[in-house]
Amino acid sequence: MFIETRGNDGQRPNKVPFSFAILNPSASFGGLYVPENLPKIDTTFLEKASKKSYKEITLDILRLFNIDIEEEVMQKAVALYDTFDDASEPTPLSQIEEDLFVNELYHGPTRAFKDMALQPFGYILSHLAQKLNEQYLILAATSGDTGPATLDTFANKPNIKVVCLYPDGGTSDVQRLQMTTQKSPNLKIIGIHGNFDDAQNALKSLLASPSFKETLNAKEIKLSAANSVNFGRIIFQIIYHIYAYVALLKKDKVELGKPFYTIIPSGNFGNALGAYYAKKMGLPIEKILIASNINNILTDLITTGVYDLRNRSLLQTTSPAMDILISSNVERVLFDKFGAARTKELMDSLKENKFYTLSKEELAQLQEDFEAVYSDDAFGKEQIKHYADQGYIMDPHTATCLKAYKELKAKPLPCVLCSTAEWTKFAPTMFNAIQQNSVKYSDKEALEGISKALHVKIPECISTLFNEPVIHNKIVEKESIEAEIFDFLNLTCKKECQ
Ligand SMILES: *Cc1c(COP(=O)(O)O)cnc(C)c1O
Repeated sequence: MFIETRGNDGQRPNKVPFSFAILNPSASFGGLYVPENLPKIDTTFLEKASKKSYKEITLDILRLFNIDIEEEVMQKAVALYDTFDDASEPTPLSQIEEDLFVNELYHGPTRAFKDMALQPFGYILSHLAQKLNEQYLILAATSGDTGPATLDTFANKPNIKVVCLYPDGGTSDVQRLQMTTQKSPNLKIIGIHGNFDDAQNALKSLLASPSFKETLNAKEIKLSAANSVNFGRIIFQIIYHIYAYVALLKKDKVELGKPFYTIIPSGNFGNALGAYYAKKMGLPIEKILIASNINNILTDLITTGVYDLRNRSLLQTTSPAMDILISSNVERVLFDKFGAARTKELMDSLKENKFYTLSKEELAQLQEDFEAVYSDDAFGKEQIKHYADQGYIMDPHTATCLKAYKELKAKPLPCVLCSTAEWTKFAPTMFNAIQQNSVKYSDKEALEGISKALHVKIPECISTLFNEPVIHNKIVEKESIEAEIFDFLNLTCKKECQ
């Protein structure tokens, strides 16, 4: 069963099953759902796992969670990993130093690690909506990777419609085309004049608007969410951390039961939370090393115990998926360590005073599991160049992890770095790093340039994007979003009634 990070308001049920938590992800007082108990894995589990495939281990872990999803549905959801580059190894582990391994989480359909969770999650959510005979609308605001992965998983899925807002000019060409060339009639993509914050705020005010909710009610459409506040995503993000250890075992790079480090390029902290839960379940993680870019609010929290939004504004970097100041999943760690009352107090303080401060003891508890460091774009470019020269291509988000590897890894243990995107999604930055220049390339020029310079193939799902017709070409002002959404819902409702 699932409980709430800020306690219960008496309006909602006290405990809910998994299906309820993922269809209705917002909990009392603005909190989040978390599992009441985590299952345990021990060395026997890990030893057995070292003879199993990614999919088998995923199913084993889902069964341990004992969630209210039928076996057959879980199997079909997990079978989506078969569409990854290598069905037998959806998350290959590459060795780039004696003690450093890259967990490549981006081999899915949209070339970002978001697919790891969103692919099976989308299948399960649509299944639940069909079973209940309910229609759901998912609203998403994206700065780049969440949008394509959310749209891909829900394309042509029954009982779900998705509206995705993106800042015009705020994403890479590849990311924009991944969205605007979507053909599926249950998807609507709207560009807005403004930046990601504007898109996010527009979405928040829609969600808070009574007239918006009334209109949806009248049409019997319910709202859900597909960002990592939804536990349906987090559950799949626990598994690849466990699998990374299994892969080390398979390669004889760690002794069964001996610890390892993991490094995570973090934004909304979903990936890191997955590692934290895996550690709590019994995976021998020595420390979870958090990498940030110059939007280093997580580094500050983990090193000083203060989460402080005052005098901060979002800075643009070459690792845009980590450009974030309000990192939602930190709340789940606070709850796990300090309980609901304290979590509510801290989150209320963040809302009212724009900061909160952990006590010394609380900070020490946080540091039992996490350490953090940040790096800037110049550091990332150096690392991209250095490894490209040695024949390994990593994207700008992945490159932030090298700082943690160099500065935080205190013991001679194997270290797994989570690689969250393929280079193809951030080609201009990549090409600048490799050429050591700051020419403004288009995505297409940079993709072709890198492909030639490093003798790598551009995957077809990326290269064909440039020839596909753009279907969603509307760029609107924030004020027009509501009307656009109603227009879309009317159109799709009419089509379905025919
Ligand atoms: C989403 C994303 C991140 C941040 O992951 P969180 O789970 O939000 O911390 C990092 N890198 C890339 C490429 C991403 O798409």
